[in-house]
Amino acid sequence: MERAAHGKKIVFLFLDGFGLGPEGALNPIRPGRLPGLESIVGRALTAGPESCGPDFLLKPIDACLGVPGVPQSATGQTALFTGVNAPGFLGYHYPAFPNKPLVDIIVRENVYAKAAALGTSCRFANAYSTLYFQYVQEKRRRHSVTTHCLLAAGLPILTLDDMREGRAVFWDITRAALASYPIEETFPTVTGREAGGHLAGLSREHDLVVFETFLPDLIGHKRNERSAVEFLGLLDEFLLGLRQDLEPETSVVLSSDHGNMEDLSTGMHSTNPVPLLVLGPAAPLFRRVGDITGITPAILAVLAGGKENHG
Ligand SMILES: [Zn+2]
Repeated sequence: MERAAHGKKIVFLFLDGFGLGPEGALNPIRPGRLPGLESIVGRALTAGPESCGPDFLLKPIDACLGVPGVPQSATGQTALFTGVNAPGFLGYHYPAFPNKPLVDIIVRENVYAKAAALGTSCRFANAYSTLYFQYVQEKRRRHSVTTHCLLAAGLPILTLDDMREGRAVFWDITRAALASYPIEETFPTVTGREAGGHLAGLSREHDLVVFETFLPDLIGHKRNERSAVEFLGLLDEFLLGLRQDLEPETSVVLSSDHGNMEDLSTGMHSTNPVPLLVLGPAAPLFRRVGDITGITPAILAVLAGGKENHG
C-alpha cells in the first residue's frame, strides 16, 4: 500500500476559469501574487513542469479532453465532478449550465453519490440564499453542474443561516456580493482567512468538503486586471486560513474546469492547462492524474483508503 493512504479526507476547491498560462504582461497570476502558496510549492502558478514533494503537488493538467475548440463550463465541470469525459461523450464543449445528457451523467456518476457509496460523508460548503431557489422556480436561472450534483446525491443544502454561524461559505468568499442581493438580512463581510477557517471547520465533520467560486471566470470574462490581483490576494489568504485550522489527515485539492483569468488578452476561455494543486498527505496519490477527468477517481481513492484504515 502506498504511504499516501494516510491522507483520508479532502477539501476540494473548485475555481471556475483558472488556468496555468505562460508568464507575461497579460497574465495576472505572476510570481509574488500568491506568496503563501508559492512558499509551499516553490514556484508561481504559471505554466511549467510538475512540482512535487511528500505533501504537495502542483501539476498542469489538460482540460480540453481531446475535443476541438475551447473548453466550457458545463462539460468541464461534469468531467471534474463525475470523472466522465463529458465533452468527448457529447462531441463538443458545452457552456454554462448542463443539458439533459450531461444531467443524466451527473445523476449517475457524481462524486458525492460515489463517496456516499463508500460510507463517507460529504458537504458542498457553498451557502444558498432562498432567492436562488425562487429564481430557479421562476425559470430566471438554472442549476449549475455543482448544484445538480448536490441535488442528485441528496446532500443537505447549506443556507445563509448556516453561513452566519460559520458553517458555510459564500461563493465570493468574503460575502461582499451579498450586499447587492435583494434580501432584507445583512451580513458583515469576512476576511479570506476567516472564510478559510469556516471551511476547515466543516472538514472536521465530513470526509469530503467541496467549495466553488466562479469569481476568476467572471474576472476573466471582464478582463479586469485589478480584480484579478485582488482575487489572488484573497485566494492566498483563504488557503492560509484553511490550512491553519485543518486536521493533518486532510488534504486540499484545487483545480478548475478551464482556463480564463490567466489570459487577459481575451475575454474568452483559454485552452491552457489548469492547475492540479494538492496540499497535504494525499498529494502523491494525485500524481497520475493527467486531465480533469482524473480528479474524481483520485478523490474517491483517497476516501476509500481512509475507510480501509479505520474500518
Ligand atoms: Zn466562463
